[in-house]
Amino acid sequence: MASHPTVDMRDIHFVLFELLEIEKLGRFPAFADLTRAECEESLRLASRISDDILYEANREADRLGIDYDAATKEVRIPSGMKKALSAYYEAGFLRIADSHDEGGMGMPETIAFSCNEIFTAASMSFFTYPILGHGNATLLRNFGTDEQRALYMENILSGRWGGSMCLTEPGAGSDVGALRTKAARLSDGSFRISGQKTFISCGEGDLYENIIHFVLARIEGDPEGTRGISLFIVPKYPVRSDGSFGPLNDVVCTGIERKMGLHGSPTCTMVFGENGECVGRLLGKEREGMRMMFHMINEARLAVARQGLAVASSAYLHSLSYARERLQGQDPANPAAGVQVPIIRHPDVRRMLLRMRSYVDGMRMLAYYTALQIDTARHASGDEAAEAGSLVDFLIPICKAGCTDTGVLVSSEAVQVHGGYGFCADYPVEQLYRDVRIAPIWEGTNAIQSLDLIMRKMLLDPGRRMYGLWKDRVLSTVEDCRPLVDGKYVSAVERAVKALDEAVAVMKARYEARDTLQIYADATVLQQAFFMASLAWMHLWGLSKAIEKSGMDPAALPIEAEGDSGKSFFVGRALASRFYLGVEFPLFFGKVDSVLANERAVVDCAPEFYSGS
Ligand SMILES: Cc1cc2nc3c(=O)[nH]c(=O)nc-3n(C[C@H](O)[C@H](O)[C@H](O)COP(=O)(O)OP(=O)(O)OC[C@H]3O[C@@H](n4cnc5c(N)ncnc54)[C@H](O)[C@@H]3O)c2cc1C
Repeated sequence: MASHPTVDMRDIHFVLFELLEIEKLGRFPAFADLTRAECEESLRLASRISDDILYEANREADRLGIDYDAATKEVRIPSGMKKALSAYYEAGFLRIADSHDEGGMGMPETIAFSCNEIFTAASMSFFTYPILGHGNATLLRNFGTDEQRALYMENILSGRWGGSMCLTEPGAGSDVGALRTKAARLSDGSFRISGQKTFISCGEGDLYENIIHFVLARIEGDPEGTRGISLFIVPKYPVRSDGSFGPLNDVVCTGIERKMGLHGSPTCTMVFGENGECVGRLLGKEREGMRMMFHMINEARLAVARQGLAVASSAYLHSLSYARERLQGQDPANPAAGVQVPIIRHPDVRRMLLRMRSYVDGMRMLAYYTALQIDTARHASGDEAAEAGSLVDFLIPICKAGCTDTGVLVSSEAVQVHGGYGFCADYPVEQLYRDVRIAPIWEGTNAIQSLDLIMRKMLLDPGRRMYGLWKDRVLSTVEDCRPLVDGKYVSAVERAVKALDEAVAVMKARYEARDTLQIYADATVLQQAFFMASLAWMHLWGLSKAIEKSGMDPAALPIEAEGDSGKSFFVGRALASRFYLGVEFPLFFGKVDSVLANERAVVDCAPEFYSGS
């Protein structure tokens, strides 16, 4: 039993094994020998490391922060983080979803996702370290030469060397194509790199023997914009062919950001080639930097969606513990008793808790479902693989934007449940609220996700194939659930699909009329509507599964479940789904209405109209 309330292990098991039935992945040769016991052991181990080491390390890192020495340009990471990372690497979690041939544990992505949810719920800062190294190793695997793979991959994947991903510059954030970092050809085929990168997570630190920076830069003479960008491997210490290190590669961290949260993860300003001596090697082909980055973008964005889910989970469970203990006011159901009751007895606190839970449960179902489609796309063949891949492409911006915005919403609600104490550092929810705030910003802001969904994944998708696939899956769930679930919930989801059809048709008409500004103005609202509808789809499915598994009479909910923890889990889950579908989901229709209304205030509001002075 975990001592820190960060994730609901029963719910994780429910989603993996009862809802998604991931054991069916055994039909693919890669998972033929995989057992449920092995999956459960990985979950248990992730939970043990998180609970025993990482949770406290995260609190300590928030208090102490990262130390930057301006004289030596060194960055020191709190010791607890180092200990937690060692445990993580030793247990092999960095390679959990890599195949046995690649030296990994050969687990499905879905199991890796759930283990990583457990780690991230204990510490959002923590996960920035290993994820960057793993991302770089994936790029090397896909695009590196044999020599590059031999030189770097094993050292990165064993946790001896770290990694960073250097895209952002002072003048190039969302607009990566505006970057100015330069690469000049050298006679031996390498490149002299020069430029400044900002906001680089884990760009410097004393955790690793070496840090392998992956740097986006423009080779001299190459075109402006994204099509002129190449990707370079720039080690902090050059690695000789015998594995020994050369002197520092003219890469320095000139400062770290003072941030509202994520104090356990250094965010560095990195200067490359101040003395003209920074050397990098091209990865893949010239001018294909952005294409290669896109290759791993789905997994990176789903990992950020997981941050929203994981922090929301922790915020919810901390709030639940608090609400069960904090005494305030009289029992509203029995005011005459004259005794103070835990705040969980107050309907408004119950409303907040159920709202939080309904979002956490919904996000978990949606994100795990998406991870399962990644497994299917990788291991199935023909139409099945293609369909799963297209579904992943469609769901990624929905998950990234929806789960991260909701992570902020749920952690804010957690502060509210705690009252004034929630605003104070003695209680963990204050840190959760600060930490998760970056998630809607990085890995493509949520505005960029909305544009990706509405433009690339919908209006520019021939025949709106991806949207059609999403709709087919939703409507098939509707049919499956009809016999078991109260008709009002089923019809809400059916009506939602019709409403989205209308909104998509309106967007299409605008596209044909070249009214792109109005499309851009409504993109976020429509993305939010898609997220809400996707959660409703999941909740309908989850509700029917909870009814089926528990043998509950759906007409008689809630049932008496006291003393039967097996049943009370399903009752709670069913009530969270009912809350989402009955109380939260009606807001979806308002969002669609606002798109249909074609209100042009945003387009008409030119910059000079935004203030009176
Ligand atoms: C803690 C932290 C860690 C980070 N780690 C890394 C890292 O490891 N590597 C790395 O390369 N970067 C990293 N970043 C940078 C991060 O990815 C960028 O901050 C992010 O991409 C946004 O860029 P920006 O900050 O320049 O904001 P801007 O691009 O200036 O955006 C400002 C606002 O304008 C909106 N906007 C901009 N362009 C458009 C558009 N075309 N359409 C609609 N809206 C638009 C944005 O949505 C946003 O609301 C990190 C940032 C932080 C804070």
